[in-house]
Amino acid sequence: MKLSILYRGPLSSCNYGCDYCPFAKHRETYEEHQHDQQALERFLDWVTGRSEDQIGIFFTPWGEALIRKRYQDAFVRLSALPQVTKVAIQTNLSSRLDWVERCTKEKIALWTTYHPSQTSRERFLAKCRELVAREVRFSVGVVGLPEHMEEIKALRQELPEQVYLWINAYKRHPYTANEMDCLSKIDPLFPLNTRHYPSLGHACHAGESVISVDGDGTMRRCHFIKTPIGNLYDANFEQCLTERICTNTTCHCHIGYVHMPELHLDEVFGDGILERIPAQQIW
Ligand code: SF4
Ligand code: SF4
Repeated sequence: MKLSILYRGPLSSCNYGCDYCPFAKHRETYEEHQHDQQALERFLDWVTGRSEDQIGIFFTPWGEALIRKRYQDAFVRLSALPQVTKVAIQTNLSSRLDWVERCTKEKIALWTTYHPSQTSRERFLAKCRELVAREVRFSVGVVGLPEHMEEIKALRQELPEQVYLWINAYKRHPYTANEMDCLSKIDPLFPLNTRHYPSLGHACHAGESVISVDGDGTMRRCHFIKTPIGNLYDANFEQCLTERICTNTTCHCHIGYVHMPELHLDEVFGDGILERIPAQQIW
């Protein structure tokens, strides 16, 4: 079986304080951390037991997970497993990075996001340079807020040329033609992220070859359709993985619409689909 799993455990805290985010500066109790650790360990044990499969794992936490040693250790453990083809995570890149040396580095990748209100460009770029030096694959992203336009341009100029900078559309903002042009020059795929794709009744790989899993093992086709389709820890979970059509009206988030076959984005991203790195340097 070949499966991509978007894992989102109970963790819901962050060391940053982005003002639009519910996890900003949220701290968890000791018991909540224990709960997250137990859920993570159960997931790791499950992956470890799936020696006949090919599994890609993408951690999409509520908050920041890589500042926690248990997630760093999870990368080390998962990347060493022959059945694991990729381990990726969404991160604000604030954690230390020496732990990556314990990983099978060719299998790990980071989806990093720069938050200009929470860290300086210099500090973020220093982390990016460290990832380059440590030979870890990563993408860098920003939200295309109009007030960050100059910062985004400066970031692109200073990032190593081979690093892809993606820009997420701030969908409440109607971009001017000039802004569209400017952002599309930096990220040629930016226009794709400005749309809401009609998806009701359309084919999607979510629920078949890619699933969302929470800390209890509850499987959903994606993060955007809340109806469970099964539980990863049930013996017959594979029976839940079938071809499905989307039941939402639209799909507008990259981690969702990349799995719609009609958009052919698997051809654009290839093996970098989880960490959002296009197969060819198109920027
Ligand atoms: S870094 Fe991410 S998780 Fe943390 S507060 Fe900002 S948006 Fe939220
Ligand atoms: S199109 Fe989007 S919302 Fe619909 S199933 Fe796929 S990922 Fe989920």
